[in-house]
Amino acid sequence: MTGKKSVCVFCGASNNIPKKFLDIGAAFGQILAQKNITLVYGGGDCGVMGAVANSTMKHGGHVTGVFPVSLRNIENEHQSLSEIIIVDTMHERKMGMFERSDAFIVFPGGFGTMDEMFEILTWKQLKLHHKPVVIFNYEHYWDPLINLMGNIVDTGFAQPETAGYYAVVDRVEAILEVLNF
Ligand code: AMP
Repeated sequence: MTGKKSVCVFCGASNNIPKKFLDIGAAFGQILAQKNITLVYGGGDCGVMGAVANSTMKHGGHVTGVFPVSLRNIENEHQSLSEIIIVDTMHERKMGMFERSDAFIVFPGGFGTMDEMFEILTWKQLKLHHKPVVIFNYEHYWDPLINLMGNIVDTGFAQPETAGYYAVVDRVEAILEVLNF
């Protein structure tokens, strides 16, 4: 692929997690900076979100955060990104991240991360876009979800082709390899 790429990272905002999840987020931030790939994310300063963004910035990369004002009482926006876009609602945030990204990476996270991932996958199912989605199954974190998604297809609630809407990788280096970025 040619031209400067942007990838959107969906990941957890919680700080109350084992440190290894923050460390692997930071490792990916460094990879993005080294490959000159723009990070697009939700603009928060905590959890894996903050770890990826801080590391990308620290290593000289470009980071665009999309943060909704409505979230200010719950999460804080990062104060030192290359670019922060303040929007009104969560839906505008998701659309803002979608429009600016060439691909979506799902890091370990919680309900918000799953919401963001399933919105992108359901939009793909509806042929609203064809952008790649990579699930980073770090230390088998997403195994139960991947099994459930398989069960959904096996039972007939989703078409078999939906299994091809996302790639699953277990090494951080493999994320950009599978995207060919
Ligand atoms: P979590 O995975 O729950 O830590 O959330 C990760 C990010 O997703 C956080 O910035 C949350 O604010 C955000 N988030 C939570 N709920 C939603 C939602 N319904 N739609 C979009 N983003 C959300």
